[in-house]
Amino acid sequence: MTISKVIGKLLKFKELKVIDLAFKKNHTLHIAVKPFKNGCRCPCGRRGKIVRTRPQVRWWRDIPVGDWTVWLMYAPGEILCDTHGRVEEVLPWADRYARVTYRYEYVMLRYSQMMTQKAAAELLRIAASTLSDQLHRCIKRIRSGHRIRGMKTIGIDEISYCKGHKYATLVYDLDRSVVVWVGEGKGRKTIDTFFNTQLSGYQKQQITAGCCDMSAAYIGAITTHCPNAALVLDRFHIVKALNAAVDEVRKEQWREANVADHKALKGLRWLLYRHSSTRSRQDTRTLKALDKGNRRIYRAWRLKDEFERFWNFNARWAAERFLKGWMTSVMRSRLEPMKKFVGTLRNHYEGIVAFIDTGLTNAVAEGLNRIVKIVKNRASGFRNLDAFSDMIYLTVGDVDIPSHIPSKFRTL
Ligand SMILES: [Zn+2]
Repeated sequence: MTISKVIGKLLKFKELKVIDLAFKKNHTLHIAVKPFKNGCRCPCGRRGKIVRTRPQVRWWRDIPVGDWTVWLMYAPGEILCDTHGRVEEVLPWADRYARVTYRYEYVMLRYSQMMTQKAAAELLRIAASTLSDQLHRCIKRIRSGHRIRGMKTIGIDEISYCKGHKYATLVYDLDRSVVVWVGEGKGRKTIDTFFNTQLSGYQKQQITAGCCDMSAAYIGAITTHCPNAALVLDRFHIVKALNAAVDEVRKEQWREANVADHKALKGLRWLLYRHSSTRSRQDTRTLKALDKGNRRIYRAWRLKDEFERFWNFNARWAAERFLKGWMTSVMRSRLEPMKKFVGTLRNHYEGIVAFIDTGLTNAVAEGLNRIVKIVKNRASGFRNLDAFSDMIYLTVGDVDIPSHIPSKFRTL
């Protein structure tokens, strides 16, 4: 066995032959290679003869081995294809325009799914910014030409990035629990771009339900673009608005209270947020004691607790009867923030009651958002949307990106 064969075996090279190698400074290994059986394929897949060799040597970064950073070198030739004439040969180990090999790309993608970019960059012996660029190129190439298919239930939500300074809009396929699109901003323009560029007219008609928060931009976009979709306002966001109203009551009382009363009101904030099912007995006792301590907070809490029942109705008429009764008692409560919340309910009445018919929430989206947030925290903020959306597509996207690398190069 020749030394180049040994090296080829050790490095698990597939589809290529080692011709020469040189150990250079800075732990760099240069390997001159050539395709097996004179590869010589046209991009269309047909074999052809090399008609002209070229002097320009190209370099591809391969996965590091031990201490060594590995570079492959080869001068691609020009071949003659029966159909396409003279073209540059396609190389088996890397994509046409890539500067890294397939197996490097696979390892890079898998590492990036598993760990922080910083750790992945360290293992690949490159700068984090280089990794970010390489990832972007690779993900963009694999996702290019991808079309959204078979979407019936759409979810739209916003997410902050860049340390909370900027917003992006995420579009979900709620049936398959994947992110299908990421766009810059959270306004109508952003979401209109999605509908105008990603879905055909037929696809828009196929959407039967859409779920979003109470933002006018998202509601407007769903009703305009999806004529057959039932609009459902996301339960999570409604509960959040109600909690905010209760908290507003608490804050008012806190401002008016004297020092002695402050003690009694302490620690209530998170307690009031709690769903009744996650409360301990002691918590409930504390809240009930408010009956004598602070009537206004007590009443706000009772109303909030009562509202939980709304989500359990099966029949629309019963849910509506309950909701109307609840809204009336809030209007009599003289709690301004709560009355404002009822105003919101009235404005979005149809979208809220639609939950009873469909049972649809963005809960899937919230679950995905948790993953997105983990990704976000791992990177401790992204500098730009490209870097952030790359990671979203890679971890919760609708395309399994690593599986698009040719299978024989998929080894970690
Ligand atoms: Zn061809």
